[in-house]
Amino acid sequence: MDGKIWHKHYPENIPTSIDYEEKPLHAFLMESAQRHPKMKALHFMGKELTYSQVYKEAKNVAVYLQALGLKKGDRVSIMLPNIPQAVISYYGVLLAGGTVVQTNPLYKERELEFQLIDSSSTIIICLDLLLPIVSSVKKNTSIEHVIVTQIKEYLPFPKNLLYPFVQKKQQNVKINLKQSKTSHLWQTIMAYNDMNLLEHKINPKEDLALLQYTGGTTGFPKGVMLTHYNLVSNVQMCKMWIHKEKDFQDIVLGVLPFFHVYGMTTVMNYSLVTGSKMILLPKFEVDDVLKTIEKQKPTVFPGAPTIYIALLNHPNIKKYDLSSIEACISGSAPLPSEIQEQFQQITGGRLIEGYGLTESSPVTHANFLAPEYVQGGIGVPWPDTDAKIVSIGTMEEAVIGDVGEVMVKGPQVMQGYWNNPEETEQVLKDGWLLTGDIGYMDENGCFYIIDRKKDMIIAGGYNIYPREVEEVLYEHEAIQEAVVVGIPDPYRGETVKAFVVIKENHNLSEEELDRFCRKYMASYKVPRFYEFRDELPKTAVGKILRRKLLDEEHSKLEKL
Ligand code: AMP
Repeated sequence: MDGKIWHKHYPENIPTSIDYEEKPLHAFLMESAQRHPKMKALHFMGKELTYSQVYKEAKNVAVYLQALGLKKGDRVSIMLPNIPQAVISYYGVLLAGGTVVQTNPLYKERELEFQLIDSSSTIIICLDLLLPIVSSVKKNTSIEHVIVTQIKEYLPFPKNLLYPFVQKKQQNVKINLKQSKTSHLWQTIMAYNDMNLLEHKINPKEDLALLQYTGGTTGFPKGVMLTHYNLVSNVQMCKMWIHKEKDFQDIVLGVLPFFHVYGMTTVMNYSLVTGSKMILLPKFEVDDVLKTIEKQKPTVFPGAPTIYIALLNHPNIKKYDLSSIEACISGSAPLPSEIQEQFQQITGGRLIEGYGLTESSPVTHANFLAPEYVQGGIGVPWPDTDAKIVSIGTMEEAVIGDVGEVMVKGPQVMQGYWNNPEETEQVLKDGWLLTGDIGYMDENGCFYIIDRKKDMIIAGGYNIYPREVEEVLYEHEAIQEAVVVGIPDPYRGETVKAFVVIKENHNLSEEELDRFCRKYMASYKVPRFYEFRDELPKTAVGKILRRKLLDEEHSKLEKL
């Protein structure tokens, strides 16, 4: 016990410090395949792959990549949804000694081109449907080889035969799949029979496993450099927190996309490191998720508040048997307490709030799974993770209860931003990471996030944290989702605008909502404008895209 105030609340079975294994991340897959080759590693729409199959196919990818000329540290972009190829490619790149660049399959040309140029990726692995966009930017980037795969490649019979028709109906894209010197088909790689993998010596503390792009605190996309050690330590912390006495016991639901660091660590890497079975869902569809839980009986279900909210709002949720769920970690945005309670009631499992960011692999805090231990806000820092609050501007350490910026330090914190020493210097201070989030710590060592520094609204000289206003809105029984932004105002500098989605079969007028808000918050915080929408724009992990709504507001104002 080293005296941090949160350590005294740790349950006995969770150590405050862990002996991290200094091995490359892919060594864990190799070991799982050796220990239990026949155990199921992946389940995808009825098709199952064992640990030995996943390892063998990842090795196929690695050998092929080396044959294409991949050298240690070279970057390979993976632009895939949650399908078996995403997992196999990721571990294949690592086995080959390369660095993975996770690429969002929803990227438009400009975003993709920027990322490929910035990371100087030489190879991209993508879905056939994404070939047109990849081809259109390829000539401006350093991409030399494109590896193409199709969803149907891992579908069981007869779904694999039917899939092309479904796909044709949904997408009107003409794709010409041809093997050439620079374009390679997945089935060729799987049939490649040269098995001579050149094993590079990986230094886990120095060698980069991943470049993960994020807007970070400034919004401009940057590649976060994460080493093998960063990722291994975070996944081992995750394993301690979820704590099963033995490996090979969990079934993990993979709804969060793996191309985002949150799904990558808490679903994909957690699952493979603990020898669990991972259920892959390439798209978040409420009906699918509920049916899958009933049928596949996952025990662990990491998600984001909007995912749990959407499930709870399904009219027939009570008809499904969701009782297999034991542990859910909600991250990426604040979790409203009503949602937490309702979800726990319906499943009988635990839903805890955690916190993290791309720059820290990502998890740094969470509440304890056992409800009898101290709980609050985003919970306490994880093993070996230090956290503090500093006053904005002076960087002086704040006292308990004082609001300031959250800083974190630990083995999961990034090495810096790729080719961007200026931005790195702004956020990394002597190993401490400035998170850009505003919060405070209570006397038990639980941390609370009030808001993001850049989202704070200053109206008539008052600081308004959107999260505080959103919490009041969420308390209204007719509101399903809400987000608050600051829009320019000639008198107050900025003023508050709320975007809300009303629950099905509910009615709510602007006047009624205004009366409700005035009852629960100071008038300077009450939104001056409300906009009712059918849905709110969201990121791939379900975080509401505040920035997009703000941009829309600014462009409306420019047109006036
Ligand atoms: P990303 O780098 O995309 O994972 O986003 C990280 C950001 O998500 C953090 O800096 C926070 O602003 C936000 N975030 C993550 N978890 C929480 C949480 N539990 N409550 C509030 N904000 C969160």
